[in-house]
Amino acid sequence: MPVYFDRYLREERLNARTGGILALYDTAAPVSCHPAGERWLVLCVAHDTETRFSRLAQARRALAHPEEHCADCAALVRAQDDVAADPASATLAPHERGARVIARATVLLGRPLADR
Ligand SMILES: [Zn+2]
Repeated sequence: MPVYFDRYLREERLNARTGGILALYDTAAPVSCHPAGERWLVLCVAHDTETRFSRLAQARRALAHPEEHCADCAALVRAQDDVAADPASATLAPHERGARVIARATVLLGRPLADR
C-alpha cells in the first residue's frame, strides 16, 4: 500500500456486509498528488485494494459497494450469498457459517482472501 497521509483522508466507513473498512482520500488536498482526472481514491483497507475515481459521487458509491471494485470483497459477498442459499447452512453455528463463507470465497477467488 502506498503511504497516504492522514491529511488526505476524507472519510472512513465500516462496511456492514464485508466487515471491512473503506477509506476515501482526496488526493488533491492540501497538495495535489494525483494523476489528472483521478482525484478521489477509495482504499479497501482489509484487502489493500485501491481504486481511483474522477468524481466524488463515484467514490462515495464505491465506499458503500466495495464488492464493485475489490475482488476479495466481491468474493466475500458472493460466498455469503452462496452459503445463505444452502439449506444445510441454516443450522450452523455462526463460527461454522463464517468458516464456510471463507472457504467458499477462497474457491471463488482461486486463492486465500487477502490478509485483514
Ligand atoms: Zn475488499
